[in-house]
Amino acid sequence: MTLRKPLAFCLLALAATVLGASQSAPTPVFGYRDFTAESKIEEKFLAVPDARLAGQHLKTLTAAPHLAATPEDRKTAEYVAQKFRAAGLDTEIVPYRVLLNQPKLVRVEAYDPAGKLLMAGPTREHVDGDPFQDDPRVMPPFHGSSGSGDVTGEVVYANYGRIEDFDQLAALHIDLHGKIAIIRYGGNFRGVKVALAEQRGAIGVLLYSDPQDDGYFKGDPWPIGPWRPDTAVQLGSVQHLWQYPGDSETPGVASTLDLPPSARVSSDSNEPRIPSIPLSYRDATPILKALAGASVPQGWQGALPFRYHAGPGGVRVHLVSRQDYQRRIIWDVIGKVKGTEFPDEWVIAGNHRDAWIYGAVDPSSGTAAMLEAVHGIGALLHQGWRPRRTIIFCSWDAEEEGLIGSTEWVEQQGKALDHAVAYFNTDVAVAGPDFSASAVPSLRQFVRELTRAVPSPLGGTVFQQWRLKQAGDKSAHPAGAPDAPGEEVHVGDLGSGSDFTPFFQHEGVPSTDIGSGGPYGVYHSVFDNYAWYTQNADPHFAYLEEMARVLGLEALRMAQADVLPYDYVAYARTIASSLEEASRKAPVQGIGSLDFAPAQAAVARFAVAAERTRGLQLAATGDLPRLNLALRRAESALLSDQGLPNRPWYRHTIYAPGEFTGYAAVVLPGVNEALDARDSSRAAQQLMALTQALDRAARTLESAH
Ligand SMILES: [Zn+2]
Repeated sequence: MTLRKPLAFCLLALAATVLGASQSAPTPVFGYRDFTAESKIEEKFLAVPDARLAGQHLKTLTAAPHLAATPEDRKTAEYVAQKFRAAGLDTEIVPYRVLLNQPKLVRVEAYDPAGKLLMAGPTREHVDGDPFQDDPRVMPPFHGSSGSGDVTGEVVYANYGRIEDFDQLAALHIDLHGKIAIIRYGGNFRGVKVALAEQRGAIGVLLYSDPQDDGYFKGDPWPIGPWRPDTAVQLGSVQHLWQYPGDSETPGVASTLDLPPSARVSSDSNEPRIPSIPLSYRDATPILKALAGASVPQGWQGALPFRYHAGPGGVRVHLVSRQDYQRRIIWDVIGKVKGTEFPDEWVIAGNHRDAWIYGAVDPSSGTAAMLEAVHGIGALLHQGWRPRRTIIFCSWDAEEEGLIGSTEWVEQQGKALDHAVAYFNTDVAVAGPDFSASAVPSLRQFVRELTRAVPSPLGGTVFQQWRLKQAGDKSAHPAGAPDAPGEEVHVGDLGSGSDFTPFFQHEGVPSTDIGSGGPYGVYHSVFDNYAWYTQNADPHFAYLEEMARVLGLEALRMAQADVLPYDYVAYARTIASSLEEASRKAPVQGIGSLDFAPAQAAVARFAVAAERTRGLQLAATGDLPRLNLALRRAESALLSDQGLPNRPWYRHTIYAPGEFTGYAAVVLPGVNEALDARDSSRAAQQLMALTQALDRAARTLESAH
């Protein structure tokens, strides 16, 4: 479900350089006493992933719409399982029974004050020349987890539906009670838009794609270019993901087929009650155009060719949405290779398989890349090689509806994941040529380092192209997050919106998320299909091959390491700077009395422990199992048993998806969200929980000294 902010596209006029052959003795790699033998294994692995085969996987996976829990979804599970088995993985299709909605009826009509019909929709997605759009299995546009309802009301335009947008409406004395909000996509997670509209009294929500954000304002629309055409709709989940992901009836519990119905809870706290539907700008135009009321604040004006007004008045909307909620069966595919030395230490790599429709970019590019990574690992297995740690590849189902397949699996594994050493995610693996990554701070250098070993289709290495691209793109270095010396490329924070969330924020498994971006305007529409992909993203599947190599190398390098290559020095530095920021914010929020000294002392202790631990990691001698155990436990030590206030499923004290952003990460969430709410007693209590977590983490590292 991930949507990365599209980066400005620029062609890199680089001469292709051939990689490899130049190095005779391998450069030292963090985590390895001597990398010589491993570099040979990596070389063998890197030679296997094949662009042509990846393209075939993509074509097969995107042949039909494959929404979670449909027969076509089951077919893709079988395809993936067959490839896993062919590679030599011990493979299982793991089913769960989870609550999912599918649309029975979706209808929207708009009338002017005289009762004249202005529009009736939703219009079927259509452009001249798209070969995939007319498949009868394409469902009408809808929102996962949305409420059913039949409502009629005046309309109010709420811009991006961020908290500041609703506050602005209130300042303009525009009341949302009894109204239908029309909100544009962008700026935050769609589920937050609907939840905030509901809180402010709206009875229904229309979410539309404004051409300013991903349509003709950006560039040529599909099928000429990559941007969103007039009828294209963004489907998506409106689940309250920031409360908890997964099956909304089973937080913290796996929805196995034998789970008794009595073990289920009401899904109310994690789903909106009001109906919402997604609209194309073609269907939104007559509504926005007829809207009366005040002219909008300048930042609210989109790219449609008339002045926008906030409403109400000028138009009434009749919205009908009947959602068929059923407990449906979904299928994860899990393939394992048991480690020879440390079988309980799992290295996990995953990507979701289900799509809103065809999902060529999201997520089939990820699946195609993962299958070629598996192909590479399989080639090693067929030569008799076995990994030191257990490697597990996972193809998740029902990610789009709320990270369901991954969350249920994580909840089922429970304690076994205490020894999982990493989770490597990809989702939107390839939408274009621009590599990017997010990671826990302890794995940022790990990602940077291994991208130096993978060639880029643009010439040089993935790392070189990544650095070059960022150097010309200031938005890649967000303000307030300066990189320390040596951190030449910026690696982002893990928020949510993909399957790393249960691993990292619920179980404390160190995680990364990688992708290769580009201009991508057809996110979650019928036009994210094989034809769009081959015309716009990656005609020769070279980036699928690249991503297969990066993902596979993550798993391989982690599985074989002598010492777990976690960088706690960087982690401590990141936490210290976030704490510094929070301490500056507190007085601004009117909580000047808050005592940051104990937390600052704890992070300083953690930093000292991290430095000493780094010395042991570099020496890589002595009792390595003990050192590795401490390294792994230090991440778990950052979880709190109570979890975050009002959302106990989220247990990580350093990272969570924001309550009001949904996908974007909040760093030190307990403390920062208390400060945002100007709640001094909660802030003090959360600062104490953070201090305890940092002390625990420091103590854990010290135990290895
Ligand atoms: Zn996705």
